[in-house]
Amino acid sequence: MAGGLLLEILSYDLQLNVDFAKAHLEGKLAVTLKGASKTFALDASQLLVTAVSVNGRAARLVFDEKRAKLKIPGVPARQSVVEVTYSKEVPDDVIFGLYKSKYGSDYFLATDLEPAEARTVFPCVDEPAYKAVFRLQITTEDGLGVIANTPIVRKESAATGRTTYTFQETPRMSTYLFFFAIGRFEETKLTAGGIDVITATRPGQAENSLVALKISADALLAYQNYYDVPYPLKKLHIVALPEYHTGAMENWGAIASRESYALVREDTNFRLKIRGAMSMVHEVAHQWFGDLVTMKWWDDLWLNESFATLMSYKMTQKLHPDWDMWGIFLRDEVFTREEAMKLDALMTTHPVQAHIKSVAEATHTFDSISYGKGACVLRMLEGYIGEEAFRTGVSDYLKRFSYSNATGKDLWDALGRRPGLPVTSMARAWLTRPGYPLVKATIMGNRIELSQHPFRLNGSRASGTWPIPIRMRTDGEETSFVLNSKSVRFGATARSELFLNLGRTGFYVTQYDEAGYRLLASNFPLLSSHDKAGVMNDLYLLLQAGMVQPELYARFVSLCGSNPDPLTIQVVAEQLRVVEAIVSDSPLVKRIARSFYPPLLEHFGETPQPGEPLSVGTTREYLTSRLARADSSYAEKMAKLFDNYANLDPNLKAAAAIGFAITNGPRAEKILQSMVFDSQSEVERDTIYRGLSAFRDSRLILDSLDLGLTGRVSRSDIHYAAMYSAENPYVRDTVWRWMKKNYDSIWKLYGGAQQFYLDLGRIVPLCAVEHESEARRFLSGRRLREGGSSMTRILEILSINAKLRKRLLSSGN
Ligand SMILES: [Zn+2]
Repeated sequence: MAGGLLLEILSYDLQLNVDFAKAHLEGKLAVTLKGASKTFALDASQLLVTAVSVNGRAARLVFDEKRAKLKIPGVPARQSVVEVTYSKEVPDDVIFGLYKSKYGSDYFLATDLEPAEARTVFPCVDEPAYKAVFRLQITTEDGLGVIANTPIVRKESAATGRTTYTFQETPRMSTYLFFFAIGRFEETKLTAGGIDVITATRPGQAENSLVALKISADALLAYQNYYDVPYPLKKLHIVALPEYHTGAMENWGAIASRESYALVREDTNFRLKIRGAMSMVHEVAHQWFGDLVTMKWWDDLWLNESFATLMSYKMTQKLHPDWDMWGIFLRDEVFTREEAMKLDALMTTHPVQAHIKSVAEATHTFDSISYGKGACVLRMLEGYIGEEAFRTGVSDYLKRFSYSNATGKDLWDALGRRPGLPVTSMARAWLTRPGYPLVKATIMGNRIELSQHPFRLNGSRASGTWPIPIRMRTDGEETSFVLNSKSVRFGATARSELFLNLGRTGFYVTQYDEAGYRLLASNFPLLSSHDKAGVMNDLYLLLQAGMVQPELYARFVSLCGSNPDPLTIQVVAEQLRVVEAIVSDSPLVKRIARSFYPPLLEHFGETPQPGEPLSVGTTREYLTSRLARADSSYAEKMAKLFDNYANLDPNLKAAAAIGFAITNGPRAEKILQSMVFDSQSEVERDTIYRGLSAFRDSRLILDSLDLGLTGRVSRSDIHYAAMYSAENPYVRDTVWRWMKKNYDSIWKLYGGAQQFYLDLGRIVPLCAVEHESEARRFLSGRRLREGGSSMTRILEILSINAKLRKRLLSSGN
């Protein structure tokens, strides 16, 4: 029904009678529809439907098992009411849809419905374009808290020991944004501009939600200003769930989040605190962009994600100017953590604006191309048309399509309203096509040539051009223009300087000729922090593509060693994390590491200095934790800090846990495991798992990997042990064997949702680097059945890593 809307859904009246203790619900649903139709069906899955009626007349029950559709025999009138009675058992072995989010011996019942799980909670037309009003009533045992998208307007207790909660009617919204949760919540409230902002946590955790509470409230006010549209609901919840399979979700009026994002404290390590805070600012951005105005279909998922990603950095920067959010944007969204530039240079990439035929396919586009590249391109566009024109365009777009749906084109039209701005063609070129260009700069006497071609990590050639906004500097002179053609030559001298992509706003990789790299190396210390990090990013991409010699990369790494810029060091440390995971045995890699860590550690020191910038603390965390893994004597030194773990500077905890594990083996295992069992804080456990995954003994690593599967710890924890162990070159094979053995049970737990493939993509390309063909056989068998494009992509990254391993092993001997 993705095409023209045959019928309009006006409202869902949903009465849920929930037996919390038995995790069972009885549902009574009335769907009010507009328009007559001979055939009509509701999406319904994993529900036991017992009765259907149309306009009060009982209808025959016809269920199309294969397509998960409840067929309705036709709605005759202009306006009809379809009533459905059904029940559902909440499954025990999944953490998505309507599920049990467990902690200790208790749990919350909670929903997580994007993209298409609403149909597993109530029959509906489960597509974003079918917006409707929801009137929800939940009856459950007395003494529980119940949260949904809107505030409770009535609470009635019956003599039976059960209470009925009636929620305020929602505005028109999409089914995937529907939310409810039931359990023993502890709430903390703040009022921002007349709106109640409330965090809900498990008992004992309320005080850990204050950072999230404050920044969500601040962001809400900042967005009201920016969008020039009031927040459309009466309250906003942040619900911290002890088991949550993804990061966070923008349910309208009731953001759900994993605990490690929502429960960070002022004294949490800066990197993890920002990760949590940013995630809140991202989800609050969606309350308008995504929730108030929603994509028509999943092919515009980027509309939601690119935009919220860009806005989360923009707003956090506004709220906390000292956090250097644009540096973190480059580090996390573009260069390293989510590696948009890496994924988008694969053969298996997709356009930001992808053709999505099915909901299953939508799952595979929740990636850094949708989030990171889209955000970069929007930032590039914003730079091109100006901040205020961009803001006005966004505001107009939101006002025009409120409570409705829109497409990418609608946004371009709104942004390009001012004459003379070719926004649509620029946006089309960058968003509807996969990949991005490599710009090659060649110095030819008194002329400079710039040429472009698509950049591919596997080194393959292709043709095509982009309109590239170029910002460059030659001999102290800055120039800006759009490179439209395949190549251009112009008169300019580059005697002392040639530098492209100033300020790092362009989404392209630059390659210089030999003379260009000589100039770059001599000017390197003078570059801005973002530009230095950009240079290192480009060199690393070119290294992976086999387009620069490893020695050139090594030379620039050592330049970073003698130029202590925090952002650049973090970016390089992330690159070395991958390189050391796949090829720590190469003499060249050892040499690179020696020229990098020691001088920098000496510069920054291991003791935090009063008043030092926050980024220095984060840099110290990167350096100490990387070196503790790589160097046994340094590990021993860090292990000594473990005695005082509880009071240790938060940026040194990871290195202390790693050092303690490597130095003490089985004795450390016992202690670290008991810390995981006892810890009430996911953000603390995240750090402890870095220790538990640093053992060099396979038996100990297997114990760590199995923890998340035993049910003794939160099932949200599974990915920490696996991700961090995959970085450990001593146990690569063990991790790979464990992954194969447990693949099916983990897949089932995640229900094949996007998070599974994101995790798989972080693990397999590292730990299977010496088993490429075996991994291909293993994953290919599962590819068509479940993984689709994600699986092909994982294999492509694996193959690039395997080639990089070979190249690095054979150089620098
Ligand atoms: Zn999002």
